[in-house]
Amino acid sequence: MNFYSLHKNAPVVSFKDAVINGIAPDKGLYFPESIPPLPSSFFDGMEDMSNTDIAFTAIRPFVTEDVPDTVLRPILENVLDFDFPVVPIEQQIGTLELFHGPTMAFKDVGARFMAQCLGYFSRDTKNEVTVLVATSGDTGGAVANGFLGVDGVRVVILYPEGKVSDIQERQLTTLGQNITALRVKGTFDDCQRMVKTAFLDEELTENKQLTSANSINVARWLPQMFYFLLAYKQCKKEGKDLVFSVPSGNFGNICAGLVAQRMGLPVKHFVAATNINDTVPKFMQTQLYDPKPSTATISNAMDVGDPSNFIRIRHLYNDDFPELESQLSSYAFTDAETKEAMLNIYATTGYVADPHGAVGYLGLKKYLAAYPKAYGIFLETAHPVKFLDVVEDTIGKKVALPPQIEKVMNKEKRYLTIENYTELKEYLLQS
Ligand SMILES: *Cc1c(COP(=O)(O)O)cnc(C)c1O
Repeated sequence: MNFYSLHKNAPVVSFKDAVINGIAPDKGLYFPESIPPLPSSFFDGMEDMSNTDIAFTAIRPFVTEDVPDTVLRPILENVLDFDFPVVPIEQQIGTLELFHGPTMAFKDVGARFMAQCLGYFSRDTKNEVTVLVATSGDTGGAVANGFLGVDGVRVVILYPEGKVSDIQERQLTTLGQNITALRVKGTFDDCQRMVKTAFLDEELTENKQLTSANSINVARWLPQMFYFLLAYKQCKKEGKDLVFSVPSGNFGNICAGLVAQRMGLPVKHFVAATNINDTVPKFMQTQLYDPKPSTATISNAMDVGDPSNFIRIRHLYNDDFPELESQLSSYAFTDAETKEAMLNIYATTGYVADPHGAVGYLGLKKYLAAYPKAYGIFLETAHPVKFLDVVEDTIGKKVALPPQIEKVMNKEKRYLTIENYTELKEYLLQS
């Protein structure tokens, strides 16, 4: 399968080059040349397939020229070595828990898949690949974990001092090996600006092979389709129309769900639930895409004012708005509504949702009010412990630390502090 740039001004490339480039030279996102349908027998027989077999069948057409079956299968076995349970919450509502991986956020699957593909692609190049990534919290931890110990790849993570939670900082700074954390005196935007400057710095790129690991990379984006397939496997027995509500920030996860649907997954409707960063909910009302600077909320992994993957969704529907609208609704919720939902869910069902999951729950409720015949699933994208303060304050109860988090709590944080781009460049050139 080849991938083309959505700006249509760059060469068509293989999966391998799309992964290594990250973004096309014309700054467009890569998109697969076709979305091959899966046979109905695949969906009919899914209960009897292993998670790895399901993922293998779904992603193989996109990667097979560059990742042979004998490599792909072990990669997927490793990527999917934890559970993805659908937990019933109410009569017609379940939550798909995507937080049982090593960093307890759903980004683990995409980050691991990308790490292993890149490790495979750089197996016989002498030059080490440097993955440079700026993080506001969850991405850095998932990328660091995914790439830990991958030969031929080193990872440099920039994060803003004092702006990530203690647990998130520990997940970034305690791994060692091929992972280096750079603590930046500045904001997330400063980190991101430095990363962008590095990619455009010819003196640097002539000496080092730099790659980014953010969610626009096809190797992070496409494997997210597995979630929707694995949920379907568990919920077929409900025998009802299936609706997914996805807490959305950069819209990569929900876009992968829409791709799974295009491949034949029987989904009635998708809901993109957001916090007050409501660029897409506004677009679905007005058909005007009006990006804005982001506003901070308690569901901070979704504080995105200009979601990078929405362009892929529009492209998937050929910018046919009525068609898009028939498959996708999008609603925004305030922090106050989110906290109220967390409290309600806990009071009525005993389930502890994190703020992102709670936004997904609200979106689902809103859609089901108008379409009560469906079975609805909202995605729980992070474990509540990752947002400990707000969760404990809201529900008035302590949340126990799971073993993945316990493990990093008493390790020593190691990082280098940098103040500006010159220091970043010096570090990258020297090391
Ligand atoms: C990244 C993230 C999201 C948003 O996912 P997108 O694919 O960017 O829409 C939602 N919840 C959590 C916890 C995240 O880390």
